[in-house]
Amino acid sequence: MTSQTPVESGAPPSAVKALESQHLLQTYRRIPVVFTRGKGVYLYDDSGRRYLDLISGIGVASLGHANPALAAALADQAQTLIHTSNLYYHELQGQVAARLAALSGLPRVFICNSGTEAVEACLKFARRFWYTSGDRQRTGFVALEHGFHGRTMGSLSVTWDEHYRAPFEPLLTDVTWVPASDPDALVAAVSSTTAAIIVEAVQGEGGIRPLSPEMAAAIERARQRNGALVIADEVQCGLGRTGTAFGYQRLGLQPDLAAIGKALGAGVPVGAALVSQPVASAVSFGDHGTTYGGNLLACRAALVFLDALTSGGLQEHVGEVGGRFGEGLRALAARHSVIREVRGAGLMWGLDLAVDATAYIDAALNRALLVNRTANTVVRMLPPFVITRAEVDEALTVLDGVFTDVARPFDS
Ligand code: PLP
Repeated sequence: MTSQTPVESGAPPSAVKALESQHLLQTYRRIPVVFTRGKGVYLYDDSGRRYLDLISGIGVASLGHANPALAAALADQAQTLIHTSNLYYHELQGQVAARLAALSGLPRVFICNSGTEAVEACLKFARRFWYTSGDRQRTGFVALEHGFHGRTMGSLSVTWDEHYRAPFEPLLTDVTWVPASDPDALVAAVSSTTAAIIVEAVQGEGGIRPLSPEMAAAIERARQRNGALVIADEVQCGLGRTGTAFGYQRLGLQPDLAAIGKALGAGVPVGAALVSQPVASAVSFGDHGTTYGGNLLACRAALVFLDALTSGGLQEHVGEVGGRFGEGLRALAARHSVIREVRGAGLMWGLDLAVDATAYIDAALNRALLVNRTANTVVRMLPPFVITRAEVDEALTVLDGVFTDVARPFDS
């Protein structure tokens, strides 16, 4: 075995890249920036350059970077107790579960480590519900085109983009796809073999596409008619991101199960599956589990986040600054005709362009603004929930410059 000198902090990006390219499985096509620290909505690279972060680690750094309350709580927890496993009780899991139950209207919580695990758990619990009910032909899932639910085998099975699925097939075979804006097709697709319908209230990876009220009504109709369960994947759009605690609440939909992750740990990996009492009653000891899930460190982070969301006024703040952001983006679209549509709510926005978005992402990086491309043509923004009105205005000014740069190529 060769021994490698660890890359020193402050090493040039080329050294960081060389070490990664030698040893790290190459699953990520990285943008060549090395971040070394953060503060609030800003990240700093290894040369000290400051970036305005409108992506927050893909919707994760909900409280901003290096949040003092989170840092203090994590330091305290690390010095007290980090992990005991799920063999024993500790004080924090029940507190997290109670808070999530009160927020969601779903009384039982399974805590895991990521969004894909939360979805995986929901898929399993939905099947378990029908298995316990004796309706064992109900194993199928109805999912929407452009939906994204994760990368493990179950969550991948209900993820729409074939490019992600094809190399790993066969996946779950009983998945029926429905166009994301065809209520009749949704109702028709739900049958006596459907275990659950899985939806995002706002599709994230699919290009920031809010579910229409008509689709939400169709889901409710299908469920009333057929009894199929509804799984809300709130990993990206949930926990205050769109200005309400959960995206489904904007649609008047009450799911039987919900998957959450991302914002919950504010940077510490934690996810959860939230379930209704009937679903919970079908789940027995040993049906599901995780070694790390709900450890003290993760729960402590979740409690700091949930405190901020529910008693720190964060949800109202997202609604207020998000409204301003939305108005500003619509004004931007009026000035730059390449923007076909502005979609989103709260602090979850997409600018759908008439062309591939790559040049705009690059131009933004040039101006030290972090946004990312999704669904090819969409410039996506998921800023930290703590972004201020002044920072929103700063972001809008920089974005205006970005659209001007690309109209008059920034590298000429
Ligand atoms: N579900 C949705 C809606 C997501 O946006 C994501 C990730 O982007 C996932 C599930 C998977 O979450 P994770 O990457 O934490 O496994």
